[in-house]
Amino acid sequence: MNAKTIGIIGGGQLGRMLAMAAARLNFRTVVLEPQTDCPAAHVANEQIVAAYDDAAALAELAKRCDVVTYEFENVPISAAEELARQVTVYPPPKALEMAQDRLTEKSFINGCGIPTARFHAVDSQADLERALADFGGQGVLKTRRLGYDGKGQRVYRSAAESAEGGYASLGNVPLILESFVSFEREISIIAARGIDGTVACYDPAENVHRNGILHTSTLPARISQETGVAARQAAERILTALGYVGVIGIEFFVLADGSLIANEMAPRVHNSGHWTEAACVISQFEQHIRAVAGLPLGNPDRHSDCVMTNLIGDDILALPEWLCLDDTLVHLYGKTEARPGRKMGHVTQLLR
Ligand code: AMP
Repeated sequence: MNAKTIGIIGGGQLGRMLAMAAARLNFRTVVLEPQTDCPAAHVANEQIVAAYDDAAALAELAKRCDVVTYEFENVPISAAEELARQVTVYPPPKALEMAQDRLTEKSFINGCGIPTARFHAVDSQADLERALADFGGQGVLKTRRLGYDGKGQRVYRSAAESAEGGYASLGNVPLILESFVSFEREISIIAARGIDGTVACYDPAENVHRNGILHTSTLPARISQETGVAARQAAERILTALGYVGVIGIEFFVLADGSLIANEMAPRVHNSGHWTEAACVISQFEQHIRAVAGLPLGNPDRHSDCVMTNLIGDDILALPEWLCLDDTLVHLYGKTEARPGRKMGHVTQLLR
């Protein structure tokens, strides 16, 4: 196999773990990231220090790479499309377009025959009041774009709550009001599609969030076999509809009757798939590299039950204790400053 070069847009921990997986398969990596000394640059072969939409930097990335991928979904769509005219870009820019805007995303997911929460576009205070009235005063108001880790959201729990100033409180930007879903648990599925159209799904993980940020992913999820099959089928439909290549993460709410409501999709490797590096032979990172490089997908089977815990902010102070546990894989991201809410690393404990 000839060594090829893979470009990665974004220099965070996901880029870092992709670059590590790429190196093991003899690929070189070039990271495009404006911040120097970023987690991915510590392990990639090269970094181009520039903005994600810098035309000259994108042209340079295209020149140096055989294929370009990305580690976050907010790569400007025009930049991704321009890049795709110069070099192969996987996952396809269409996946970015569908995932960047919650309204487009939910419509797309519904179009694949997969239910989501009901929703209304909200572009004014009057829209918000109409939408809340339609949902009996309950709902989750979210920015359509650039929301992550629960940021840019507001929950309305009852009709008694005043909606006054609600639209402006999220910054006078396009919003979406989703109906409030009373779910029993949250799961996600990490799936991959190869260049030849083969799909491989990891087992669904059960996720617990704290302050809007993923705290733990546990395998197996407490769901029935039918619910697991439904998650896989939904993933396969989404991947096929997008002509997707690479790894995707799709989050769902599980209702009391076991049925699934899709919440969102991330066209990239996903935090709730970090457990795969300890509990599967082929991690989500290697799977993504295999997919975008045109190699056969690996077997996604899980050999162990496990729980992945994110180390966020000061959680990193417990590192000495984690290091003393058996069957526990510790993964740190090379960040020096432990700010509140900042993902510093994660640990995966095998349960056996
Ligand atoms: P998101 O940014 O869409 O992933 O939302 C962050 C978290 O907020 C989710 O993981 C859920 O715990 C909660 N949440 C989001 N949307 C809804 C909804 N429509 N109904 C109930 N809870 C929600």
